[in-house]
Amino acid sequence: MKKEFVVIGLGRFGGSIVNELIALKADVMAIDISPERVEEFAQIATTAVAADTTDESALRSLGIRNFEHVVVAIGENIQASILTTLILKEVGVKKITVKAQNDYHEKVLRKIGADQVVHPERDMGKRIANNMVSNNILDYLELSDEYSIVEIRANEKIAGSTLIDLDIRAKYGVNIVAIKRQTQILVSPQAIEEIELNDILIVIGSDVDIHTFERKALH
Ligand code: ATP
Repeated sequence: MKKEFVVIGLGRFGGSIVNELIALKADVMAIDISPERVEEFAQIATTAVAADTTDESALRSLGIRNFEHVVVAIGENIQASILTTLILKEVGVKKITVKAQNDYHEKVLRKIGADQVVHPERDMGKRIANNMVSNNILDYLELSDEYSIVEIRANEKIAGSTLIDLDIRAKYGVNIVAIKRQTQILVSPQAIEEIELNDILIVIGSDVDIHTFERKALH
């Protein structure tokens, strides 16, 4: 069965989620208060509906509670974002992801039961900054305020060494959970695995430990 999702708010962020979900062959109901925005997505989304999602009866009449996962991508109007989330929670939507504008907004969203709160601009900023300070860090995914998963390119300094030689876990407190080697992915690589030049190491650990590893082992 196809997964069915709802995206509320068809700005750049919500719009890009709709496009991607459709590309991934999911069913998407796209909702916006603006008829022009809805018109834009009429040919793209599975269904596109003009509605004010702060109106509980409008949301109920769309059968919103039957959908698997709802994304609230209303940005600037924080009040509408909070009220919409509250109604979704009340009608019993299983999973709700909300875009937050700032930390206060996030705090309220978490209090009222949003399952996932995202800050696309802040998170993207962090990823880009991490790529900027280190040429070896290719990508960065924040797990919490302190922990992350990063992709680090293996350079000449570590190519030819095995994981035992490097003793990364004991020395730096980080773990290599997988290695991308051209089209191959080695999940949970063995200690005797020899790192090759340009392997991409998927490393998990605290931000401090990851940066120490990157600074000391690769330079
Ligand atoms: P982005 O950065 O993703 O472009 P944004 O943060 O600037 O978006 P807005 O443009 O403020 O966010 O809101 C996104 C969309 O949410 C808009 O298309 C807006 O019409 C829609 N929206 C705002 N309030 C409501 C509401 N009460 N019900 C449904 N949609 C709404």
